[in-house]
Formats: sequence, C-alpha cells, structure tokens
Amino acid sequence: MSRIAYVNGRYLPRAQAKVSVEDRGYQFADGVYEVCEVRGGCLIDERRHMARLDLSLNELRIARPMSPAALSIVLWETVRRNRVRDGIVYLQITRGVARRDFAFPPADTKASVVVTARSNDLAHLEQLADEGIAVITVPDIRWQRVDIKSVALLPNVLAKQAARDQGAREAWLVDAQGRVTEGASSNAWIVSRDGKLITHPLGRDILAGVTRSVVVNVLKAQGLAFEERAFSVDEAYAAREAFVTSASQTVLPVVSIDGRPVGNGAPGLIAAALRRDYHRHAEVA
Ligand code: PMP
Repeated sequence: MSRIAYVNGRYLPRAQAKVSVEDRGYQFADGVYEVCEVRGGCLIDERRHMARLDLSLNELRIARPMSPAALSIVLWETVRRNRVRDGIVYLQITRGVARRDFAFPPADTKASVVVTARSNDLAHLEQLADEGIAVITVPDIRWQRVDIKSVALLPNVLAKQAARDQGAREAWLVDAQGRVTEGASSNAWIVSRDGKLITHPLGRDILAGVTRSVVVNVLKAQGLAFEERAFSVDEAYAAREAFVTSASQTVLPVVSIDGRPVGNGAPGLIAAALRRDYHRHAEVA
C-alpha cells in the first residue's frame, strides 16, 4: 500500500489522505486514471501514459488541473516518497468536488488529483510468469467507450471476481459475436497454430494498452507475423500460445482458458521471449 499519497497539492500520510464525499469520482465515477510501471525507481513509458491520459481527459471534457511538467514531478515525487523501486504509480483525476448534480459542475470547479505508489512483489510476479496464469471468459457487459480509461470499472470488478471465484487470475471479456475484446485489466493475445500473433484492433471497444503498443512495436521491428483482428473464444481454445499485457505485469503467459490447457499447458516461447525483452523496448525516462 502507498504510505504517502498526493491529494490536491499535498503529500499526506495514508491515514490523512482523503477526498470529499462530494467528489464526482466518488459520486459518479466521473474521472480517469493511469497506472504506470515503476522499475529501478524510474517510470516506464511515462510519455505514452500521459498521452493516453490526455485522450481520456479530452474525451470526458475534464480540464487538466496542472501542466504535464508539474504532473510528472508529482508522479516521480510520490514514487520517491514511498521508496518504490519496482512497482506501480497510480494517478486519478476526477471532475472535482461540487454539489451533487448529474450535469457538469460550474466551469471553475477544479479537477481533483490523487497519486499513490506501491511496490510489487517481484518474486511473486516472476513465479506467476514461470507458471503461467489461468483465464476464464465472461460476457463483455461494459459501455461503448472503453477506450477512455475511466474509473467506472464495475463490469471489470465483477469479471475479475468471477475469475477469482474459479481459481483464475484474469477474465477475458467476450463480445456479442463470441470474440474476445480484452482482459478485465489487460489486453489479450493469442498465437495461432500457424504462428501468427493476434490481438484485437484498437477502437472504442478496447483500451489502447501502453504495453500492447510496445509489444506491437517489437513485433513490427522483428518482422514477426502479426494481425490486429478480433479472435473468437474457439480460436483461443485452439491457440498454440496465449498471453496478456499490462503495465503492472508486462507480459504474462496464459496456460489455460476456461479450464482447457493452451497448447501443451506450459507458458509459450513467444510470450516468454516478449517478457524477457520487454524493458529493452519500453521507454525509461
Ligand atoms: N485493458 C484494460 C481494461 C485495462 O484495465 C488495462 C490495464 N490498465 C489494460 C488493457 C492494459 O493497459 P496498459 O498496458 O496500458 O496497462
């Protein structure tokens, strides 16, 4: 857990780090967030995360509460004050505090900013990567703008808990046509029998994962066979390999889907190689 949190201009011990009950993030989930990996005390791919933050804020018409440079200082300072070497930094920006009313508050309402940071258990993550994870599939019941990284995550929460209840670590969300969009908190990938890497194309129906974009760049640079297209659950069952990508876990092999082994049931070679080389391709500030 974060010991020190940044809340609207102040660095506070966790017990004192509080937001108003009238905050629109609390009342309406009217806010956005980012999770950025921290490695060796440095933010990974900060530029890409900040670009996506701008997209989310613009789409929701939330005015930036501080300059990108000032925000960057707060992110790094929160990491430093929590002494995080390997972990994540979390940023949330909401439309601010105002009398409860669905429509936007007065134009002079200042957006709220919260930043926390915490360490990851690297040994545990490595063990997960060595063993591979189980995923289940559930219907994708989210709204139609999941490209916006909004804090409204109830369908993702329910999907993740369904996974937990079945002894799996991630849930893959399936659209009305039986195709996997993405994971509850990750992007979904398969390697087909003929060795092609496949992941859902960008659009309004998935989050444009930063880790996904780094992996796409690696595949293009290495000339690997790669397709951005939706794949069905049946294709996933028949895949040679599967994996998920996210900033907090980079590349994590999937070894079973709905209880059926993927390939020979062990982490795939491509996923393992992408994980091993990931930080050679990500941007370190
Ligand atoms: N999709 C969803 C729904 C997510 O919540 C996340 C993680 N925040 C991702 C994909 C992966 O995105 P990133 O690689 O930027 O962490």
